[in-house]
Amino acid sequence: MTSSPRSLPLRPGARPGHVYLVGAGPGDPELLTLRALRLMEAADVAVYDNLIGPQILDLVAPSAQRIYVGKKRADHSVPQPEIGELLVSLAQTGLCVVRLKGGDPYIFGRGGEEAESLAAAGVPFEVVPGITAAAGVGAYSGIPLTHRAFAQSVVFTSAYLKDGALDLDWPALTRGGQTVVFYMGLSRLETLCEDLIRHGLPASTPAAVVRHGTLPDQQVVSGDLATLAAAVRAAGLQPPALVVVGDVVSLQSRFGWFQGGASL
Ligand code: SAH
Repeated sequence: MTSSPRSLPLRPGARPGHVYLVGAGPGDPELLTLRALRLMEAADVAVYDNLIGPQILDLVAPSAQRIYVGKKRADHSVPQPEIGELLVSLAQTGLCVVRLKGGDPYIFGRGGEEAESLAAAGVPFEVVPGITAAAGVGAYSGIPLTHRAFAQSVVFTSAYLKDGALDLDWPALTRGGQTVVFYMGLSRLETLCEDLIRHGLPASTPAAVVRHGTLPDQQVVSGDLATLAAAVRAAGLQPPALVVVGDVVSLQSRFGWFQGGASL
């Protein structure tokens, strides 16, 4: 990193016995906040999961202990309550704990559950916001999530299954004039597109899947609700990926600027 000739008016740094729930952004290390970077450089221990790539982990203090608590969809390596207990016990031994989370800690990151554990145990904590995947994907793939001509609002939702079916607020998601971003939706993309059509969105509504947004291997597959699932299957995309639905996706082919590996 080049040093800046100006000094920033920074707040006090990392404190022992505290837990910092830090949003590490969607992947590109350049999208970390200054606060995130300073805390990572000062941490005694970093607790992280599979959304945290090696380039970001490399920015944690070399002396810090690194603890992986990652989860994959079918493979819950450390149950969420145990992560909460781990954070509490590390802080109670007087360590400065940085809990690195992909994107923003409070957007589908279960940061609320970790904050709950810390609050219940009386452990002091701070939350550092990060660039959520939707914002990163929008910028790097060329999809303005809102646009005066196409979408006056944007909805972030998850595509959880309940009893084997998508249990979503369909009237809200199929309203016109908005963009809908689905987190964790790739593995049930076909059902998702079919359900959106069944609940009233035109089959010709533009839609895209973006995998590894902001990373050198970012992949974008776009089409419409009728064609997207087959195109994504043909391209063999795997999570983590976002599904973006709405007329703004029609701008993607002209607004996409990120050349992946070339700029990192
Ligand atoms: N707290 C995170 C989201 C955690 S949920 C945030 O604010 O971004 C995990 C889901 O986020 C993944 O299944 C995927 O849908 C999405 N995601 C995270 N990083 C991503 C990336 N770089 N590109 C595309 N989707 C991503």
